[in-house]
Amino acid sequence: MVILQQGDYVWLDLKTGREFVVPIGAVVKLCDSGQIQVLDDEGNEHWISPQNATNIKPMHPTSIHGVEDMIRLGDLNEAGILRNLLIRYREHLIYTYTGSILVAVNPYQLLPIYTADQIRLYTNKKIGEMPPHIFAIADNCYFNMQRNNKDQCCIISGESGAGKTESTKLILQFLAAISGQHSWIEQQVLEANPILEAFGNAKTIRNDNSSRFGKYIDIHFNKRGAIEGAKIEQYLLEKSRVCRQSQDERNYHVFYCMLQGMSPDQKKKLGLTKATDYTYLTFGNCTVCDGRNDQKEYSNIRSAMKVLMFTDTEFWEISKLLGAILHMGNFRYEARTYDNLDACEVVRCPHLNTAAILLEVDMKDLMNCLTSRTLITRGETVSTPLSMEQALDVRDAFVKGIYGRLFVWIVEKINAAIYKPASSQPKIVRRSIGLLDIFGFENFTVNSFEQLCINFANENLQQFFVRHVFKLEQEEYNLEHINWQHIEFTDNQDALDMIAIKPMNIISLIDEESKFPKGTDATMLYKLNFQHKLNTNYIPPKNTYETQFGIQHFAGVVFYETRGFLEKNRDSLHGDIIQLVHSSKNKFIKQIFQADVAMFLCGYVPGGTMGQPGTPPLIKGAETRKRSPTLSSQFKRSLELLMRTLSVCQPFFVRCIKPNEFKKPMLFDRELCVRQLRYSGMMETIRIRRAGYPIRYTFVEFVDRYRVLMPGVKPAYKQVNSQLSIKSYK
Ligand code: ATP
Ligand code: MG
Repeated sequence: MVILQQGDYVWLDLKTGREFVVPIGAVVKLCDSGQIQVLDDEGNEHWISPQNATNIKPMHPTSIHGVEDMIRLGDLNEAGILRNLLIRYREHLIYTYTGSILVAVNPYQLLPIYTADQIRLYTNKKIGEMPPHIFAIADNCYFNMQRNNKDQCCIISGESGAGKTESTKLILQFLAAISGQHSWIEQQVLEANPILEAFGNAKTIRNDNSSRFGKYIDIHFNKRGAIEGAKIEQYLLEKSRVCRQSQDERNYHVFYCMLQGMSPDQKKKLGLTKATDYTYLTFGNCTVCDGRNDQKEYSNIRSAMKVLMFTDTEFWEISKLLGAILHMGNFRYEARTYDNLDACEVVRCPHLNTAAILLEVDMKDLMNCLTSRTLITRGETVSTPLSMEQALDVRDAFVKGIYGRLFVWIVEKINAAIYKPASSQPKIVRRSIGLLDIFGFENFTVNSFEQLCINFANENLQQFFVRHVFKLEQEEYNLEHINWQHIEFTDNQDALDMIAIKPMNIISLIDEESKFPKGTDATMLYKLNFQHKLNTNYIPPKNTYETQFGIQHFAGVVFYETRGFLEKNRDSLHGDIIQLVHSSKNKFIKQIFQADVAMFLCGYVPGGTMGQPGTPPLIKGAETRKRSPTLSSQFKRSLELLMRTLSVCQPFFVRCIKPNEFKKPMLFDRELCVRQLRYSGMMETIRIRRAGYPIRYTFVEFVDRYRVLMPGVKPAYKQVNSQLSIKSYK
């Protein structure tokens, strides 16, 4: 047993066997006839008997008070990393480096560390010169861009509520300050955020301002380093939220803001009242959000939209569609039976009338296309009634379709204001900094198609990350002429190949089945099993009744429930709805559905087979099944573009950590944090570092620490000015 004294720091392994429990730091209070009393980091006392002596290990001195860069930790393991974050967090030091990666623990309180003075302090400094900070990352991005004439990117990851969006905004704030022009374009770039958040963020149980989409903001700078434009790319908006919310969650902020902020006169024109009156806004039994002022937000959204050149007419057209959505949510249906078939009718009420007026469609047409479906069988057009359940699905699909397209249109509109294509000025050099604020790895009790897409994105980012860290490591060794053995690292390329790269990959099989007229979730699962059952990264269902399959992701195994996969991937609206939009007098809705209407006019017919181009023009209410693009193919394509963009940038990584599930300051849930550290691939990075040379000293530090071993060596400051970096062996 290690000889311990009172006041010694130790690691206490409680050996609970729980998945996310790691040894906890503790201090020795008493040593008494073989028994040791320790007080752990959470304030709990434990008596350790000699038989349990293996539960206790001395702590490395670097772990006692913590370090700014975790690469310097002697205890380079999960427990060491966790304790380092914990003790710093307790001192409000929320930022910590792990080499070039910034770890940011959400403080859930406003800290006085983002002032103009702080911006000045962090401007033009090397990483490590100042305490870790998000501004240091922003500053390095900016100066690297200028110095090396190379595009930079910053990949900000973490789970919901961890602080990705706030970090993105802080980087933007820093870049705008340092660009320093107070120009119109700077203001426009900054004002894009409130608009995106109004339409794409919502209160969830995890985060009062949760982004329900991923985004990449590319900020463009001119030769003098001033912001001259930006471009925003959005990924996978959660459309289902427009129609349903879980308990204590809300729909998108914009709805509540509109109802609080609009003048009574405008509301009257849209036939709107208060939030609690709308089904689509009340599934979560929660229409207000503590700490948010929807009325004030509304005027912020309005003024931001003015800055981004949305005209009053456009703003009104958007409001009309939002109003129509709310009215449609309040439609009531009555069940009927026609020819022994389940059918239903929309009950006539003011909501129906107003929705038809706002959508500028014939009310009867609206009712018909929401309660029946036109099919073509053997060349004949037949109208079949929809059951109540089907009718509700059709209405919700229409509403999701409107909102999803509206969101895409808004992002395009913002880009039209802030994006100046480089090609228009070919001789002018332009550099950029891209900020990626994207959903982290997800593993819920039930995971569906959305989680597969999200985790697929994260596999891509992990691959990018590992390659980058690995490459940097080797480059640094070469630079300093250090002998090194080939470093092994867990490459997630195999998982990525299986998901989306190699022939017959999972995404392509899902896609193929989505286009296949008779494809079902079950036939899709059968094909996945057939193709991949021998792949070590694939976990087939245990029996023929089970409807889920598993994937071994870099961050752990996730099981995906396949029910609803194909429908979600098809993401298509039936032809009657497109036809209704086509018949509308509302130019705006026609505009946002432009591509769908065009495809419909091209003559897509049931079963996914294309008709003769140009024929047949509109068959009244014909069923269409768009052959492309499916959701996964669109997402895959935008991810490929993103990865291509990132690959030519010098990257920075920010890993945001959520310290507790209660949105509370000064509360650090150790298990929750370990889980995030694991899922973020942080341990993987550390493994890479461990396989290399984890302890790094500058020449000065090295001489100061070890010169006692060699009589006659002078203090470092008397020897060199250079900051040559020497690495010690493990
Ligand atoms: P989601 O994936 O749900 O969008 P997110 O990672 O983007 O989550 P944020 O919206 O950035 O999370 O942060 C959640 C909340 O945490 C913020 O609304 C804010 O209250 C708080 N927060 C985050 N970062 C900071 C910070 N640096 N200082 C103070 N509060 C913060
Ligand atoms: Mg966010």
